[in-house]
Amino acid sequence: MIHGYAAMEPEGDLEQWEYDPGDLDKDEIAISIDYCGICHSDVHLVDDDWGVSSYPFIPGHEIVGTVSSTGADADRFDQEDRVAVGWQAGSCGMCEWCDVGKENLCPKQQPTAIGRNGGFADAINVAERFAFRVPDDLDGERTAPLLCGGITMYTPLRQVDSSDRVGIVGMGGLGHFGVQFADAKGCHVTVFSTSPGKGSDAEELGADSFVHARDTSAIADEALDFIISTVPAELDWNAYVDALRPEGRLCNVGAVPGDISVDARKLLAGKKGVIGSNTGGRKEIEEMLAFVARHDIGAVVESYDITDVNEAFDRVRSGDARYRVVLSI
Ligand code: NAP
Ligand code: ZN
Repeated sequence: MIHGYAAMEPEGDLEQWEYDPGDLDKDEIAISIDYCGICHSDVHLVDDDWGVSSYPFIPGHEIVGTVSSTGADADRFDQEDRVAVGWQAGSCGMCEWCDVGKENLCPKQQPTAIGRNGGFADAINVAERFAFRVPDDLDGERTAPLLCGGITMYTPLRQVDSSDRVGIVGMGGLGHFGVQFADAKGCHVTVFSTSPGKGSDAEELGADSFVHARDTSAIADEALDFIISTVPAELDWNAYVDALRPEGRLCNVGAVPGDISVDARKLLAGKKGVIGSNTGGRKEIEEMLAFVARHDIGAVVESYDITDVNEAFDRVRSGDARYRVVLSI
């Protein structure tokens, strides 16, 4: 049996719960979990904000652990190898997107903790294709959150280069990775935050400037090439379009509950674009793990034992976490 903490109903507390994962499939590995990050998407799923949750279910999709057994055809890993698992646990493996390592765009992708159980638990079984070797010199606790929060920022930032001026809106779990990645790529980095107290942290993480995100005219005064918004709420989108230089892109990754509405004239005048992005494919995750090992990038962690999972979860739900809450198991 696998022992974890499950949501029993929308917005409910997480409760101790166990399930039988069944026999290991031929292509699966069993992982004994050491760490699992808490992403804001876990909050959306527990609360059923997206209408896709079924209960009980164990959340968690930012996992680092060690391989405890391997299926008959699973030969990528040996027992005791250290591996990580992120948002995705499966894809068709045959479509045009899977072919090029963009499994996050596969129409049949299977998330780790939707319709199945995730990482707030002592173990998980997962297809070996969706487990990633953790480089030896990376700390497991700092690395777990990279598997969703990190890759969600790394993938869109692959399209910027060192001459670009990058903006990060919302410095939470995702945002604090965005600052580190953009800085490591040599970009000028501006953080837009509603929390003035995060200014010194932003600078330490590599930001060059810090703008109060409630000050619309200060936002619009910026001149940036690429802005990523991580905020799970409505914003003054036009102010961020104004903050773009010609041909700039505003990329949203936050689970905004409604529409993103911008003045069409602002887009055509500056040939600007509004785009979205989600997590990343297997190739991009492997590339990111090599990149973070080279640049000493990782989560700034608030550590909690899994027995305090509800207290830990509330840190994320309330928006107080700085910057990623990680459960030790
Ligand atoms: P988080 O740690 O809670 O950070 C969100 C940050 O947004 C907060 O720290 C805050 O930053 C800012 N913020 C929150 N509420 C706000 C509001 N009402 N107005 C303005 N700013 C606000 O969350 P996260 O884990 O980074 O996740 C962020 C969003 O991304 C969630 O919706 C999550 O579901 C989504 N997500 C998407 C993907 C994807 O593939 N696209 C992957 C993972 C997560 P400041 O204090 O700096 O203002
Ligand atoms: Zn996530």
